[in-house]
Amino acid sequence: MIQLQQIQHAFKLGRKGNERHVPVLQDINLTVNKGEIVTLIGRSGSGKSTLLHIVGGFLRPTSGKVHIADQDVTAYSETQWADFRRIHMGVVFQNFQLIPSMTAYENTELPLVLQGVAPNERRRQTLQLLDQLGIASYADHYPSELSGGQQQRVGIARSLILNPPILLADEPTGSLDSENEAQFLELLQSLNRERSITLLIITHDDKVASIGNRTLRIEDGQLIHPSDPHRLEVPKQ
Ligand code: ADP
Ligand code: MG
Repeated sequence: MIQLQQIQHAFKLGRKGNERHVPVLQDINLTVNKGEIVTLIGRSGSGKSTLLHIVGGFLRPTSGKVHIADQDVTAYSETQWADFRRIHMGVVFQNFQLIPSMTAYENTELPLVLQGVAPNERRRQTLQLLDQLGIASYADHYPSELSGGQQQRVGIARSLILNPPILLADEPTGSLDSENEAQFLELLQSLNRERSITLLIITHDDKVASIGNRTLRIEDGQLIHPSDPHRLEVPKQ
């Protein structure tokens, strides 16, 4: 479902003519199969978000190939990516990225509006999902009127509203208390069981990592797979 081949990424820093290249990812190879849950851990600054931004098409890798749902998306333009994402994936960002002038309901419904879904159907699906995430009673609240955990759940609702076959999430439980976190993990696992949604989740939380069929670690810009002998030497944090 997701295939990364020899992905390298370096950020350019400094002024033109005097640029420094800061390598962040090196030779990343990763295959995530349909219906698999892969969790990705690693220290802060190790390149986790960079990798997720590449898989989500928000960042072009310096080199390497990205295939998703049997398509070579490596050279997709921003418009192509936007269309591709609408069909193939939902993304939960670390900082929610809600639209401040829209209510929780409107933020969640927006992808359905853009898809041209009929108003009655939009309402049904949006309310059902908000309810499932325990935020139906906040439907009319603007993001500024919601706690961090509530905003995060709206971001999650928006990313799930189109029933994407793939969900990418960057520390999705960072602002949730343990009760809401358990609920959210249950929701992800039921989506995975019932709809075979493929999940790639970045986390530093052991409980979140443990829902993975596989847990990978990024270290020094390299991906350590569970079967790598090197991993045995890596002390668990
Ligand atoms: P993580 O999500 O694991 O905490 P990131 O992928 O956000 O790590 O960042 C990895 C490294 O790349 C860090 O050293 C960070 O400072 C650097 N970095 C991230 N984004 C940029 C950027 N836009 N420009 C320059 N450096 C960046
Ligand atoms: Mg990050």
